[in-house]
Amino acid sequence: PTDAQSEEDLIKKADIAMYRAKELGRNGHVNYSETLESDSGNKVLLTNELYEAIERDELLLHYQPQVLSETTGIIGLEALIRWQHPEKGMIPPGQFISHAEQSDLIHPIGNWVIDTACRDLRALIDAGHRGIRMAINLSLKQFLADALLPHIRSTLERYDLRPEMLEFEITESIAMGQQQPIIETIAELRKFGVSLSIDDFGTQYSSLSRLSQLPFDRIKIDRQFVMDLEQGDTSSAIIGFIIELSKNMGYSVIAEGVETKEQFDYLRNRGCGEIQGFYFHKPMPFGDLLEILVHRQNP
Ligand code: C2E
Ligand code: CA
Ligand code: CA
Repeated sequence: PTDAQSEEDLIKKADIAMYRAKELGRNGHVNYSETLESDSGNKVLLTNELYEAIERDELLLHYQPQVLSETTGIIGLEALIRWQHPEKGMIPPGQFISHAEQSDLIHPIGNWVIDTACRDLRALIDAGHRGIRMAINLSLKQFLADALLPHIRSTLERYDLRPEMLEFEITESIAMGQQQPIIETIAELRKFGVSLSIDDFGTQYSSLSRLSQLPFDRIKIDRQFVMDLEQGDTSSAIIGFIIELSKNMGYSVIAEGVETKEQFDYLRNRGCGEIQGFYFHKPMPFGDLLEILVHRQNP
């Protein structure tokens, strides 16, 4: 209550803390504070510089494959943004997305991500790689913007893609927000035909009755639980619970952050249908992805 007066503002600030926690790596938790916001503002990230990054074409997407547990074949990709800074080198999204969100640059950046991911998906299909879906991350402001659906629609038309080929990831904290616009947007996007997945699942306190009312396609088990698997029973119990829950609710389930064979074996044996993580593939430039796919087709 001391940090924000509205739900929207509260989620925005929670998001800033989340991005900071992700930036710090494993197992972290970060409380929001005003200095956090101004720190993240001061660090790399002058609005002007980020604005110019768009103009100068310094943003790029890497793609991380998602594989089917049974066959380990690639069935999806997650588009992950990076900033190739002329002096500072490659800047990860944890260091500029929350700033983009605060400064409203998230709209042009988010649109650029959608355009670029669709362009590359079209190139994949034209190269003969069909049946691979493309997952795109959406932030809260993007999700609440009226222009989102029209932009998605026109981009799909431009690249002659069907809505089912796209998936949008929103974090559990956004998905569980109580605002009416969020619920409406979820319904609208689903009706239009794109898939939706809940990112970082398990990190919030979702209401199960609320979850059952939301028309999601997929739940992404948060990386934290996968990392903690070796350390004991709590994470494995939570993972088992999420997989059962997903099945009962008719959702697909994917685990992210899978780095070892042990983690993969465990998840597959528990019935987790899809896997994403360094054990199979790291996020990579589009050119490398094409090579992997060609190689897989003609081993
Ligand atoms: P996320 O959506 O949870 O994305 C997964 C992050 O985990 C990525 O970090 C990915 O590189 C990393 N990762 C994947 N597999 C493994 C693994 O096996 N081990 C470990 N240690 N890490 C793994 P990345 O690319 O730095 O992205 C960080 C966050 O930035 C994303 O978290 C997402 O919240 C945000 N983000 C990235 N691209 C976009 C975008 O285009 N739009 C928006 N709004 N947010 C984005
Ligand atoms: Ca994601
Ligand atoms: Ca995630």
